[in-house]
Amino acid sequence: MLELEEALTRVLAAVPTPRNEGVSLSDAWGRVLAEPIYSPTDLPIFDNSAMDGYAVRAADVVSAQPAPPVRLRLAGKVAAGETFPGKVTGGTCVRIFTGSPLPAGADAVVMQEDTRVDPNAPGAVLILAPVGPGANVRYRGEDVRHGSTLAEAGEVLSVGRIGLLAAAGLARVQVGRQPVVGLLATGSELIEPGRSLAPGQIYESNRTGLAALLKCAGAVPKPFPIIADVLAGTSLALAEAFDPCDVVVTSGGVSVGETDLLKGAFQHIGGKLEFWQVAIKPGRPFVFGRYGEKLLFGLPGNPASALVTFLLLVRPALLRWQGATSVALPAHPGVLAEPLTNQGERRHFMRVNVDSAGKVHSTGLQASHVLSSLAAANGLVDVPAHATLAAGSAVSVLRWEY
Ligand code: AMP
Ligand code: MG
Repeated sequence: MLELEEALTRVLAAVPTPRNEGVSLSDAWGRVLAEPIYSPTDLPIFDNSAMDGYAVRAADVVSAQPAPPVRLRLAGKVAAGETFPGKVTGGTCVRIFTGSPLPAGADAVVMQEDTRVDPNAPGAVLILAPVGPGANVRYRGEDVRHGSTLAEAGEVLSVGRIGLLAAAGLARVQVGRQPVVGLLATGSELIEPGRSLAPGQIYESNRTGLAALLKCAGAVPKPFPIIADVLAGTSLALAEAFDPCDVVVTSGGVSVGETDLLKGAFQHIGGKLEFWQVAIKPGRPFVFGRYGEKLLFGLPGNPASALVTFLLLVRPALLRWQGATSVALPAHPGVLAEPLTNQGERRHFMRVNVDSAGKVHSTGLQASHVLSSLAAANGLVDVPAHATLAAGSAVSVLRWEY
């Protein structure tokens, strides 16, 4: 039985080199950037106003007060999207708006609230407060310098990052291709939700959650019909799934019972079994195999086992497949609100919920068939074998936001 770290190393080593494609920035959110991006421009692109008001020379308004104000001659107006053709000379000002380029000669902006216009003297503006040089000016390059790194290769593009790239004028980026992942569920007892059950049957629930998890990992899920526990049918279904897919994820049929046919079926179609069984709970019977360049992940059928092994072993592989640098679930510090006990021989990834104060609560029964504690969880705590983590202990919580 492999340790989790060894299993993950072997999975990641089998992931093929990422292939890239160009996408428009509007389709790039959540994708893995394939190349570093250096800024083709300064940001802001030019000195501009942070306020609606008047562009001035700060030295002209040093003495400005509500009484007596400083009177400046209004030399013109510059709207956002325009440039001011002239220059702000001593004793003059220019009407300006947020985002308007700062006219030559001006070094500050007096906000509109600190000014008054005399309706009887429309050519002048009364300045009611002084401003220092640079006040309300957003300087060229203060946000980003031309040539500096806007984004790194291997990062998952966030909302803020694609906004930054757009602001720098990029319209397309190179990203890792997304794996198409066939999603299979095995089990003669399984019925599609929405149908009626005969005695002994249960609803198939793994593909629903796994499809969502695949999307969250940037993969493209391709669900296939439920497979009965028959060797020939399982082999055929696997072959049919591999054909259009880069990766196949199955659930069920990986334990030691007579109906656990997945490994045999996979080998029957020419797949190479890389390993079976990982020393974790839930999820020990996890299977990993290769089918040429393609990958097989055989998850155990119990819903908690399927989810946990997906997060620990499949998600990293799918992210790496797209070229991501960081593939582990994010670990966040938390403090246990109650003890977590693992009486077993394998480390137990226990389902927990982290509240807004960082307190970590068990979500209830931890058996691998229990779905309610899965539904309530937003994280996992790795509890060592034969150990109790006391209430109040600082723990690292593997988080997911979905
Ligand atoms: P298996 O891994 O096939 O031995 O299945 C372990 C347990 O998980 C059994 O109780 C199965 O009925 C259940 N199970 C397997 N696959 C699914 C599935 N896709 N949806 C819901 N339960 C499942
Ligand atoms: Mg089964």
